Amino acid sequence: MAPRKLAAGNWKMNGTLASLAEVEALAEAHPAPSCDVLICPPATLIHALASRIAGRGIKVGGQDCHASHSGAHTGDLAASQLADVGASHVILGHSERRADHGETSGAIAAKARAAHEAGLVAIICLGETEAERDAGQTLDVIAGQLAASLPEGATAANTVIAYEPVWAIGTGRTPSSEQIAEVHALLRADLSKTLADGADISLLYGGSVKPSNAAGIFAIPHVNGALVGGASLKAADFGPIVAALSAA
Ligand code: PEP
Repeated sequence: MAPRKLAAGNWKMNGTLASLAEVEALAEAHPAPSCDVLICPPATLIHALASRIAGRGIKVGGQDCHASHSGAHTGDLAASQLADVGASHVILGHSERRADHGETSGAIAAKARAAHEAGLVAIICLGETEAERDAGQTLDVIAGQLAASLPEGATAANTVIAYEPVWAIGTGRTPSSEQIAEVHALLRADLSKTLADGADISLLYGGSVKPSNAAGIFAIPHVNGALVGGASLKAADFGPIVAALSAA
């Protein structure tokens, strides 16, 4: 099988029930895209969103989960609880979680294992800081994060990898096509060496993807889609990104 194309929206800590109209507008404007489309709203909206767009081809995901299935973890959510309210995917190891909550790659691997056990697809995020890129450490950082964040049992069916340079998130800056290509080639080579079906794992690029740069990014080898923050909040922005991926 070839890697599945995926346009994934990360709403972060944005959105209320009124925002779900944007996803309905997206479904109306793009009723049958030739790629998977996923919206990861705040956890408060997962159930309502899954109910409202059931059967319309858009998947719903979480933005984090706990590594345990239940217990005394105030404020946390288990992967099985996300699945229970309609999630099919969960974003793990986003750089904002690594920075704000001190999440290590080892902790992310444990969360990914829990996600798999709950039947969720884990979208594992990796990315270098600007200081690491300036120091010429990008490939070593990415290879290290991949090796430590990938759990045993990862397959193309249950895992997606998102390359998100920290300095490109929410800044309007993106790496050059050559820089994205270099990292995605490394990811593909490492995954192909490590996993029997590593050649089929979807690789997303994330960091300031917009309608204006999406087609160029989707033309880069081994880019199978995008993880999109700000531009996923409005159907008028995310729709053209979905269309560009459908056409890629
Ligand atoms: C993200 O948060 O995953 C992201 C890529 O954000 P943005 O598209 O806003 O840069």
